[in-house]
Amino acid sequence: MLSLNSPLEELNRVGKTNAKLLKKLGLGNIQDLLFYFPYRYDDFTKNSLIADLEKGQNANIIGTVELIQNRKSFKRRIYVTEALVADESETIKIIWFNQAFLTKTLKVGDKISIAGLVSENNGQLAFISPQYEKVYDNNLVNTSGLIPNYHSTENLTQKQIRYLIKQVISLRTSVEDWLPYKIKDKLNLLDLSEALYKIHFPKSDEDVLSAKHRLAYNEIFLLCLKAQIVKEKLKKRQAQKIIFQKEKTKEFVDSLPFKLSDAQKKSAWEILKDLEKTTPMNRLLEGDVGSGKTLVAIMAILNTALNKEQSALMVPTGILATQHFNSLTRILAPYNFKIALMTGTKKPADYKDLDIIIGTHALIADKVKFDKLALVIVDEQHRFGVEQRQRLLNFNDNANKLTPHFLSMTATPIPRSLALTLYGDLDLSIIDEMPIGRKKIITRLVKEDNRNLAYEFIRKEIKNGRQAYVICPMIDESDRLGVKSVKAEHLKLNEEIFPELSVGLLHGKMKAKEKEIVMQEFLAGKISVIVATSLIEVGIDVPNATIMIIEGADRFGLAQLHQFRGRIGRSDLQSYCFLFPSREEISNPKTLERLDALTKYNDGFELAKIDLKLRGEGELYGLSQSGWPELQIASIFDYEIIKEAKNEIEILLSENPGLNNYPLLKNKLTELGYQTHSHLE
Ligand code: ADP
Ligand code: MG
Repeated sequence: MLSLNSPLEELNRVGKTNAKLLKKLGLGNIQDLLFYFPYRYDDFTKNSLIADLEKGQNANIIGTVELIQNRKSFKRRIYVTEALVADESETIKIIWFNQAFLTKTLKVGDKISIAGLVSENNGQLAFISPQYEKVYDNNLVNTSGLIPNYHSTENLTQKQIRYLIKQVISLRTSVEDWLPYKIKDKLNLLDLSEALYKIHFPKSDEDVLSAKHRLAYNEIFLLCLKAQIVKEKLKKRQAQKIIFQKEKTKEFVDSLPFKLSDAQKKSAWEILKDLEKTTPMNRLLEGDVGSGKTLVAIMAILNTALNKEQSALMVPTGILATQHFNSLTRILAPYNFKIALMTGTKKPADYKDLDIIIGTHALIADKVKFDKLALVIVDEQHRFGVEQRQRLLNFNDNANKLTPHFLSMTATPIPRSLALTLYGDLDLSIIDEMPIGRKKIITRLVKEDNRNLAYEFIRKEIKNGRQAYVICPMIDESDRLGVKSVKAEHLKLNEEIFPELSVGLLHGKMKAKEKEIVMQEFLAGKISVIVATSLIEVGIDVPNATIMIIEGADRFGLAQLHQFRGRIGRSDLQSYCFLFPSREEISNPKTLERLDALTKYNDGFELAKIDLKLRGEGELYGLSQSGWPELQIASIFDYEIIKEAKNEIEILLSENPGLNNYPLLKNKLTELGYQTHSHLE
């Protein structure tokens, strides 16, 4: 018997290989799959006549196969399957790549349903690599109605994912609906099982909307509730008092090659004042990319170390940890602090008499115990959840169990009022101005015809001593879409375009050591151009790099593109960002409008809003791509839901602080690692 906890291997058509691919998507058991939501739907609710099709339109047709055959493309060494499909109005060509088996499954005379983007082939309308299904009676799952699209990984098709979800959807009724009935009733929310059904198998737009609303409510409700619980706990904790070293801090600030911005001063002041208290600081430092958050963090670290207490700085990637390690070692050199680096591959011999430790989540994962950890700073906080904050509560091994002060830093733009509601447990400092002398990054959308001009421009800038990033969406050559893969792009730039320059490569599948070497050489100016995947997104700081090319720019969300772009414009030099859309999107007005926003706005918050607006109702994911792991469906712009949830939580906790009347909700929180009772505190 299948249950929610059954591993996916127990489903039909899931062998070792597929289980591995599913694991890659974070899917281990049936419950995971039920909560794996589509990110958009194709609207195939209406069938079109072939004669009515127009280029660029997403459409669904039903017709009969009149011809189907394979040929080998010599140029690209792959099989191409071509078919002609006819309905009563017209005939259209269908092309698939590398699916030679199709001539065995689809035969002349078969009635099939085809769904996908109408494109062109040799000047004639055609479907290229569309979804297809044989039509029997009423069997269509993939090509008729509102068809969900799921984020997938190589070698796992939409069809396979849909087939798996169809197998498990009946188990939705075993999922416990932990939201108190009172709230559901009052706010007119769907039952969880109904929402789960409708999100995967909607019959109409209304189904999508109501399901989305309930699931978004879930996410926000839990997020706010967890934050509230952590807040209550922290209030009862004790922290080490860090005495503000006024003179030494002033000396340090004076030794810097630049002046702090007023916003940096104000934030540092708020933080240092918090550290002087015996209740743990719990603060969020928010500032757009390049606003200089690290320096504010260093001032807190400096004061902690001068007080002979330990600090930890936690970052999302090994590259970033190394970068921070190097810059702290350099900036704090005169003080002779003991600074250590801890990544997946590097560990300090002993944690006991360190002053400062910098590391990835290995810091938490390895159950490291500290002796006198007084301050924990998490950089790029959006990569970590409230969960980590909760775990930090028990970080110290010392007898009196002092709780470290906590500071998280993020470039994710949220307005103050919203941040306070959403992360009610955090105090907030905002760096709302850039360091003096920064110039606006010049951003251009470049047509393919002008590619060489862009390269020429870059060559000239590099001759003047600058450096460049080239960002590509994928690692491996993907056959037909012309998606630039980093490796291919690296080869091209290194051998054809910039043979005279040193061009480096950086992607997630490289070994940590290799990545580090490339970054070091880039930082040292030995490499002029770095070709990278989205790995580069977070935190990297090479002020001399002033140029960025983003290939396949349409494949990224605006917020993410803004993060990429934040790698340049980090000094008083003029920086330039060139966006290249992928070939098949180059004339899609929606894509161009979206990318055009980047050329106009430099403000992360504005861009996030535009992104959401332009995507419209058809797309489900809020800002998850920009790194809110807790928010898959909800977005930080769901003001109404956030307000409602906050309100209901207040009522709930005031009536029933231990939540004992709500065992299902309590279970849910325990499952997530949150206890509402108090014997632990
Ligand atoms: P982020 O807020 O994105 O983490 P960083 O802290 O990495 O930004 O700072 C970006 C760059 O700006 C760094 O090279 C840093 O040395 C520099 N910087 C920080 N503060 C100032 C300042 N007040 N004036 C000039 N440059 C600064
Ligand atoms: Mg940073």
